[in-house]
Amino acid sequence: MQPFTYVRASNVGDAVKALSRGAKLLAGGTTLYDLMKLRIERPERIIDINHLGELKHFDTSGERELVFGALARMSEVAADAGLVRDYPAISESLWRAASQQLRNMASLGGNLLQRTRCPYFRGGEPYACNKRDPGSGCAAAEGLDRGQALLGASPSCSAVYPGDFAAALVAFDAEIDVVGPGGERVLPFEELHREPADTPQKETTLEPGEMIVRIRIPVTPLGRASTFLKVRDRESYAFALASAAVALEMDGDVVRDARVAVGGLATRPWRARAAERLLIGCRFDESAARAAGEAALDGAIPGRSNAFRIELGIRTVTDALMTARQRA
Ligand code: SF4
Repeated sequence: MQPFTYVRASNVGDAVKALSRGAKLLAGGTTLYDLMKLRIERPERIIDINHLGELKHFDTSGERELVFGALARMSEVAADAGLVRDYPAISESLWRAASQQLRNMASLGGNLLQRTRCPYFRGGEPYACNKRDPGSGCAAAEGLDRGQALLGASPSCSAVYPGDFAAALVAFDAEIDVVGPGGERVLPFEELHREPADTPQKETTLEPGEMIVRIRIPVTPLGRASTFLKVRDRESYAFALASAAVALEMDGDVVRDARVAVGGLATRPWRARAAERLLIGCRFDESAARAAGEAALDGAIPGRSNAFRIELGIRTVTDALMTARQRA
């Protein structure tokens, strides 16, 4: 085991200072400990932010926005009665994400920053990985690609962004508040994660020393008729082969407004605006839902053994929209 220093932050400023000097933040620890055991992360200094009470609160009763502290626990937020009633897609994206034990520990901010499950990334040194060791190559390019991304991949990296909550956030135009050495700034959530291009080691647009302190979602009538559907190799506690976060606002049988995002298929949380444009103004039925699913997967590039996930993604979006319609 590599020795490291453990420090407890007493305020956000402390945490930012330590982060700027190369420390790793410890929130729920559900990703960091995993990666330390695999020797993918080897921090020399860990700064524990679990005692920063101001980051634990969340409020879903606001008239303009829902506000979630970055340290709010996934299980508590998923069970919030207001969220379950008014934004089922968000609640479902949280409770389908992991086991109860993990959800009890994991924080919302940490969940957003979880790292890929690409087996070659997690497999460590025997495997070339541009994300882990920039310039070393990509073992997935010639290896097993059943679980690799179909959208947003590059020759350097095809690792899927694994989070579920992020798909719901991107569908609902969330914003995040981040604090860094230069002060606080607001970032549209859609701009947080990067596509890999030729720098897959840079996963987010956070500047050095910046941390997420808050997530905000504008209040919208679209929330009630929403759902998050996740398809995976086993019924529960697995990462998505394909997922969809969708929402509808109806005027009779006609779609007044729509949101479509997909997860498990792309290198970052993926908003499918072409699918939304197809739906808005049209009379909703199963063939319209299917057309939206096809638009959401438009541009997907299959590898050797993951082409089946294009049709799976289309059907996931279609089924999610049919469920949302029943809630409208
Ligand atoms: Fe690494 Fe990305 Fe290639 Fe996986 S797909 S081995 S994470 S470079």
